[in-house]
Order: sequence, then C-alpha cells, then structure tokens
Amino acid sequence: MSAKAAYLTASVTSSAGRPASPIWHPFTQHALQPEMTPIVRGEGAYLYTPEGARIIDAISSWWVVTHGHRYAPIIEAIKAQADQLDQVIFAGYTHPPAEALAADLVAVTPEGLDHVFFSDSGSTCVEVALKMALGYWRNIGAPRTRIVVMEGSYHGDTIGTMSVGARGVFNAAYAPLLFDVAQVPFPEQGREEETLKALEALCAEAPAAFIVEPLILGSGGMKMYGPDVLAAMKRICEAHGVLFIADEVMTGWGRTGTLFACDQAGVVPDIACYSKGLTGGSLPLAVTMCSRAIFDAHYSEDRTRTFFHSSSYTANPIACAAGHANLQVWRNEPVPARIEALRAMQAARLERFRDDARFADVRQCGTIAALDLKVNDAGYLADIGPRLRAFFADRHLLLRPLGNTIYVMPPYCVTGDDLDAIYDGIAAAAEMLA
Ligand SMILES: *Cc1c(COP(=O)(O)O)cnc(C)c1O
Repeated sequence: MSAKAAYLTASVTSSAGRPASPIWHPFTQHALQPEMTPIVRGEGAYLYTPEGARIIDAISSWWVVTHGHRYAPIIEAIKAQADQLDQVIFAGYTHPPAEALAADLVAVTPEGLDHVFFSDSGSTCVEVALKMALGYWRNIGAPRTRIVVMEGSYHGDTIGTMSVGARGVFNAAYAPLLFDVAQVPFPEQGREEETLKALEALCAEAPAAFIVEPLILGSGGMKMYGPDVLAAMKRICEAHGVLFIADEVMTGWGRTGTLFACDQAGVVPDIACYSKGLTGGSLPLAVTMCSRAIFDAHYSEDRTRTFFHSSSYTANPIACAAGHANLQVWRNEPVPARIEALRAMQAARLERFRDDARFADVRQCGTIAALDLKVNDAGYLADIGPRLRAFFADRHLLLRPLGNTIYVMPPYCVTGDDLDAIYDGIAAAAEMLA
C-alpha cells in the first residue's frame, strides 16, 4: 500500500481490539482512533512525548494556551498559591486571589462590566450568562425567556449551551431536550444586512437576550465577520432593550488582535463570558461578567431573588492565582506587540495559499488564520478531518481541522520557523490529497 493509500484508509479502519485504557476521551470515536498520543511535558509552543519527540502545538491545546505552555510567571503563582490555600467554599467566604483577579478583570474588560461571577469552564460561564439574563427579566417583573442566537454558533456542550448552539450531528441524540431559540443568519460578507434585519425583527418580539461569538465563530468553522456588524448588532439589541451576551470564551485574551473582540467594535456587552485563556491556559477557570443593572436586579432582601448558581470549585484559589498572574503578564509584558508580530507572521504565511486553487476562503482574524481545503465531501464527519489530523501528527504538528477547514491558532510565543513548519505541513497535506 502506498503511503497515500495508507493515510486514506487509516482513519476508517476499525481497530482490532478494544482500547487498553479505561479512559473515554472527549470528541473521540475510539473505534476509529485506537491510540492516544501520550504527552509528558510542555514548554512554550511545544509538547513532548515520552520518547522526546517535539510536537508544535499549532492550536494552543484547544485554544487555551496563550503565552505558551508552563509560562514562568503563571507557574510561579500557582506554586506560591498552592502553599497558602488550595480550596475554600466561596459562598460566604472569599480569598485574596479571587479579589485581586476580579478587580483586575473589572479594570480591563469593557467599561460597565462591574460584577464578576466565577465558574470553571466555558460551557458553565455561558450557562451562568443565560441564567443571569432570565433572572434579570424575572426579577424586574417582566419575565422573558426567549434567546436569540447566530446561525452556526458554538457555546458549549451542556444541554443549555447546546440549545443556543448550532444543531447537528453533535447533539442530534439530545435534540428533544434542547430548548427552542430564535436564529439570525450568519452575516456572510456582502449580506450583512440580512442578519441585521432578522435581528431587528426578532428583537421587536421582546426576547430576553441575544448571545453571540464576537468577530469569529470558532467551532462553527472559524467563520469571520467585521466589527461594524458586531457594533450594529449591539445597537439593535440596545434599541429594543434586549440583553447582549458576548461569548468571548475563545476570542478573549488577544486571539482576535485586541485583548477582547468587543474592544474592536467599541461594544460593551450586558453580559460577557471569558474562560480558555483566562489563566493563560494553565488551569480551568471561567468568569461571567455583567452590568450593574443585572446584578442589581438580583440584589434584594428578598431571598427568592438570589442568584442560585454554584459549582463546588467556584473561584478555586489556585486557578484564581493563575488568572491573576495572567493579568499581571498582560500588564507587565509587551503582549500586544507579540500578538501584532504573530498576526503579521501569520498574514505573510497565508499569502502563498491565496492563489492556490486547492484552497478557498483564506482568512485571518488577529492571531487566528484559517483556510478551507477544497474537497468533495466537506462535512465534519467526512473522513478528511481525521485523515488530515493523522497526516499532521506524523509531521509532529498538532493541528485539528474542523472538517475541511484548517486553522492555525498557536500560542503567542510561536516562532517564524515553527510557523514555516506548520504551513509547509498544510501545503504537503494538499499534495497528499491531490
Ligand atoms: C470552547 C468554547 C466554549 C465552551 O468552553 P468549555 O470550556 O469547553 O466548556 C464556549 N463558547 C465558545 C465560543 C467556545 O469556543
């Protein structure tokens, strides 16, 4: 069998036996992917296998690692906090790392996001956002429950976040449990008016909130739209008194070129969700931030107006220390300059693909680059994704295409040589499939 034929069949041949490990991995079909790659060490933009092979982490370990793996100031803060306080109940108690992080967050997020609710994952902070929105309307005595979403969005994998996300093969089994939402079309270039008109019409029906990924839909295929559209959508929501929820779980912490994507549009959301890069990608942590009006709607001597939400590890002190250290890095180091350098390096390397007939829709949003490989069967479940993944893995590149969409979202410390290796790999993948 030729090397090419081996790649083409590798992903569709079921393994002979059952997995040796008891672990059930996320988004993994174990019958098609019998073996996991063990990783024992991370440093900067690299991951290392037990044999010492160096893998370039071109997707920041699923979009979380910003400055690099084991970034020294963050790791130091984690070690120091572990020596002080590991965990404490957060109802009725507080602690210095949470207070310090919350104060810094209020300072760096859009003016008007005055309150910080802690949780521990992107999905959870979106759930919290939805609950805050519904709680707001109920507590001001004008109950509203309908949520407006954007076509093709992803907000998480819990029942609530799947409900506000795109429907499809990922959640077909749970469809009967998902609640109804109203949807505006994705603002395709040149057809932005359709999105705005649809949003205008839906907002006139007095929904509770509009939730959106600002500037770029991540899991939905790295689809990008402009800050002007984001600003226009915010204006429409504001005019109708509809709460605007920005899901910055992926876009936050510099990915789109600015600290937050909303910064580029001058948009102040009523509720904003941040996670992934919040700790620089070192530990799980999330926050939902909200306006004073939303907090105040829950602020009462009436106990029924309490915001009834918690998870066991809410505001874990070690994770908060990592988050606070991340904000110190942003304050003390030239992170925006690194981001700008990465943006320029990505732009330069995308050039060679612009006139390449095998690729379409070569695009970039800040530090994120994406391009679509032209193939006949392009859905996520088409074999192309796993085939490409296996091909890149053989070249020691961690890339995980979304169907035929290949994207590069590396830690900010990635070098030009690393990027050359990544883009040479992408070109070679097109050769392999030709
Ligand atoms: C990843 C992601 C989530 C979910 O975050 P988890 O930490 O995986 O639960 C939510 N929204 C967006 C936009 C994301 O990219």
